[in-house]
Amino acid sequence: MNVGIIQAAYVIAALLFIFSLSGLSKQETAKSGNIYGIIGMTIALIATMCAVSSGIGWVILAIIIGGAVGIYLAKKVEMTQMPELVALLHSFVGLAAVLVGFNSFLDPQQFFQHTNIKVNNLVEFAALHNELIIHLIEIFVGVFIGAVTFSGSIVAFGKLNGRISSKPLSLPFKHYLNLGAIVFCIILMIIFLDSADFIKNTILEFMQSLRNAFKGTGVESTMENGPGVNMTALICLVLMTLIALAFGIHLVASIGGADMPVVISMLNSYSGWAAAAAGFMLNNDLLIVTGALVGSSGAILSYIMCKAMNRSFISVIAGGFGTDSKSSSSDEEMGEYREMQPNEVAQVLKEARSVIIVPGYGMAVAQAQSAVSSITEKLRGMGIEVRFGIHPVAGRLPGHMNVLLAEAKVPYDIVLEMDEINDDFPNTDVVWVIGANDTVNPAASEDPSSPIAGMPVLEVWKAKTVIISKRSMNTGYAGVQNPLFFKENSYMLFGDAKASVEKVLQDI
Ligand code: NDP
Repeated sequence: MNVGIIQAAYVIAALLFIFSLSGLSKQETAKSGNIYGIIGMTIALIATMCAVSSGIGWVILAIIIGGAVGIYLAKKVEMTQMPELVALLHSFVGLAAVLVGFNSFLDPQQFFQHTNIKVNNLVEFAALHNELIIHLIEIFVGVFIGAVTFSGSIVAFGKLNGRISSKPLSLPFKHYLNLGAIVFCIILMIIFLDSADFIKNTILEFMQSLRNAFKGTGVESTMENGPGVNMTALICLVLMTLIALAFGIHLVASIGGADMPVVISMLNSYSGWAAAAAGFMLNNDLLIVTGALVGSSGAILSYIMCKAMNRSFISVIAGGFGTDSKSSSSDEEMGEYREMQPNEVAQVLKEARSVIIVPGYGMAVAQAQSAVSSITEKLRGMGIEVRFGIHPVAGRLPGHMNVLLAEAKVPYDIVLEMDEINDDFPNTDVVWVIGANDTVNPAASEDPSSPIAGMPVLEVWKAKTVIISKRSMNTGYAGVQNPLFFKENSYMLFGDAKASVEKVLQDI
């Protein structure tokens, strides 16, 4: 297909991706944002397929297999498993960047095919020489980011689905290990670029192969006799890949459970930069734009989450949240707790004038959102003010609770963010915490030695009565015991969240 049409399709797809991101930033427009993204990606796929000059059968086969796996996973995956799936998908982007990098290195002809080659004099030779150096830097950096994203995402996947402990790994001198790995990779890059004049030789050999191909035939070069691969450079690239893989594992393994949301969006950002690097290697403008959009939006999201959790981005990346402080053990004796039965909860709710419901991960696993929505409707029908308080990291992915509540048709205007509702707790009659734990833990603000100290939480304990629905006295994701359960105005409603909420609904 005409190159101009393909470029135009790329521009349209890039614009649709921008509309998609802007749509996704608000609940009301999230659906149309998704649709823009789907249309943009369809245009991008068709344009890319039209741009492929050979092996289109393989591309179609890959799309069919990838599409089938994608549809199967999308249908099967639970909302609570989404972060794991996203982490796994990030690892694919990282792996793709590594493979593209190695492919570009082992087959430099691709680079020359993309370059507008005119080497008639020394100046043009120097220009091509510089372009090739930039291309090799793209390869080295792209493979590095891709390998870190790949191994880091696999560890994040393991931590999120519980196959790897969520406790931070704390190796001795871990910051020096990270620094050493980066310095060593920079040294490898210098050797890689400098190795045995291979850049100059590559260009000379390429020109020779062109001359041979054109000799007497008058037809275009098939470019089969490409320049050989320099062994020193290849060893540098392989060594750096191994170090980057280990670096990715160490980086994510040393981050504690409570910081995982930031890690997910950080890996999202890395996967974007890896895709952008692959775009540079393949000379594909759309991949560069899309990668940059994903990379920067992931970075912005990480920053917003760090701010919401009162953590500095550097300290999250440096890892080990909670490792330096002596955590209050989960077994520690915290005193007595009191229980309420569903009929008593129903009574307390009916007598209240204002109720705030605080959902968390437990509501999502129990799929209790529809029952919660029915109770909300019923209480509002009785003239009781019902609102929801949403912590930025409630559940297992950003916006998790908002999506579930929207699905269950809870009106948007009564679903409030932490900052919007935190001052209202002292004037609230009843707070009902449904399957939330870390996000309502007073230790974050009251106990400086707590592993989650400093993280802003929903100050539910300031309300007159607090009811906490969960199955046991177990800790939440961060593995920290919660003094809220032992406060004088707190009552535990034990049982699966869905069953408990349904019983309360019946009693109301
Ligand atoms: P938590 O993970 O802290 O606690 C959830 C609670 O739900 C548990 O204590 C559990 O107690 C209870 N629970 C589990 N299953 C059920 C059930 N079927 N019925 C009733 N209760 C149930 O949840 P939060 O939402 O408060 O906090 C989220 C945590 O996840 C934070 O630490 C956050 O940092 C982390 N995280 C957040 C991500 C995000 O992007 N939002 C991503 C990754 C991690 P019990 O076993 O006794 O029932």
